[in-house]
Amino acid sequence: MSNHLFDAIRAAAPGDAPFIRASGGRIWTYQDALDLSSRLASAMDTLGIRPGDRVAVQVDKSAEALILYLACIRSGAVYLPLNTAYTLAELDYFVGDAEPRLFVVSSPAREGVEKIAKAHGAIVETLDTDGTGSLLDLARDEAADFVDASRSADDLAAILYTSGTTGRSKGAMLTHGNLLSNATTLRDYWRVAAADRLIHALPIFHTHGLFVATNVTLLAGASMFLLPKFDPDEVLSLMRHATLLMGVPTFYVRLLQSPRLDRQAVANMRLFISGSAPLLAETHTEFKDRTGHAILERYGMTETNMNTSNPYAGPRIAGTVGFPLPGVTVRVTDPATGAVLPPDETGMIEVKGPNVFKGYWRMPEKTAAEFTSDGFFISGDLGKIDKDGYVHIVGRSKDLVISGGYNIYPKEVEGEIDQLDGVAESAVIGVPHPDFGEGVTAIVVRKPDAALDEKAILRALQERLARYKQPKRIIFAEDLPRNTMGKVQKNVLRQKYADLYART
Ligand code: ATP
Repeated sequence: MSNHLFDAIRAAAPGDAPFIRASGGRIWTYQDALDLSSRLASAMDTLGIRPGDRVAVQVDKSAEALILYLACIRSGAVYLPLNTAYTLAELDYFVGDAEPRLFVVSSPAREGVEKIAKAHGAIVETLDTDGTGSLLDLARDEAADFVDASRSADDLAAILYTSGTTGRSKGAMLTHGNLLSNATTLRDYWRVAAADRLIHALPIFHTHGLFVATNVTLLAGASMFLLPKFDPDEVLSLMRHATLLMGVPTFYVRLLQSPRLDRQAVANMRLFISGSAPLLAETHTEFKDRTGHAILERYGMTETNMNTSNPYAGPRIAGTVGFPLPGVTVRVTDPATGAVLPPDETGMIEVKGPNVFKGYWRMPEKTAAEFTSDGFFISGDLGKIDKDGYVHIVGRSKDLVISGGYNIYPKEVEGEIDQLDGVAESAVIGVPHPDFGEGVTAIVVRKPDAALDEKAILRALQERLARYKQPKRIIFAEDLPRNTMGKVQKNVLRQKYADLYART
């Protein structure tokens, strides 16, 4: 019997070499992880979990949680990671939608969680390491001789709910084939090898920390320092022993705030990778000046895994997300006609390849609407491919502002505002406007003690932007709302300022 993804993980596993260096000091070898995943798979089998059943996992980050993911792959169950920050109402929606057979929680389970899980027919287990009665406890009584379920490339490995930045979250169905092909491609593209030591400070309920970080490490037979969360001081200390960091842009912004970041601090490091949200060119340049390392930016999404990456050996161009990965086709089309656009023209980014998901869980119509007739996934991102082949992301199509009949790309306006003295960061959104349809509106965070006011910003922008692109209003804020991956939540801002131009 063959298990598409797990057979590859097993074949790459270097026995007694370290896999996870947990923050409490415990080192899990590959053999330890294989054994525990086998016992956990047997424990789930005893509980009646069968191939195709969903296993929802809402637990704190730990080695055991990652090994539970491996157990699901082996047992043929569909892994369903859930953000620990979800409200009970969100959880009720996800559990009702996915109907997991098993729901694994950290102990003690948050009040109300168990009730929701049981109401939707799930068995509830904890992943407690000390107490009794947890899934780990059940696993202890099992022999490490689980016979892996037979799974082909097209079988589901996981369902990941999208972040919901642009609307209600949807369950993206990812297959064994999607995960294996993408992780193998990334391992080779970034030259990850057994000697690599990854600093893993990302959450493990999202595609970045779960699939990119974990699967790439596993398929390289490398090891990881598993941190419960990102802490710049801790990461800086670990850099003396590590070789690789996978981060979101906010990691790099925060590292740059530390006086400890210099060439010596990163002397052991081989590669810094960024993704999940746009990395400002300014951050890229500053990091290069301070450390000598050009951060390698890549682009992906829950539905497609990773699509593009800046090159390992060639120039890593700030403000771009690099080239389509081997085997992945990326094209840019006119959103109105679907015609493929020439280089340098901005349109809808569409993706095709073995990385692209199988569809949205129980949403066949939504799925069909997101694919073109020739099988490309319509990403919802706007961008262009330049003459050298580098892909540029301009923003989400849902964030595009249409004011007085003109299309305005928020990123362009934000770029101009961010260059002004005294501006820390900005977000540009469209707000319903009685005359223009939408009014370009900028939310601006000032640097401490900056004496910049609305008039000064508007005056400065008059020289830099065509009139229709200039914001109608500037609103000052203490900070911008972000999700756990550091992405600005423009939907939250649009909701907050929806009545800004309402006529009274
Ligand atoms: P939803 O689909 O529910 O709105 P979401 O798209 O925010 O949620 P994710 O799949 O986590 O959820 O995010 C993928 C998106 O993140 C991409 O479509 C793109 O807009 C953005 N993104 C990822 N990497 C980059 C990058 N390097 N530069 C710019 N944008 C990026």
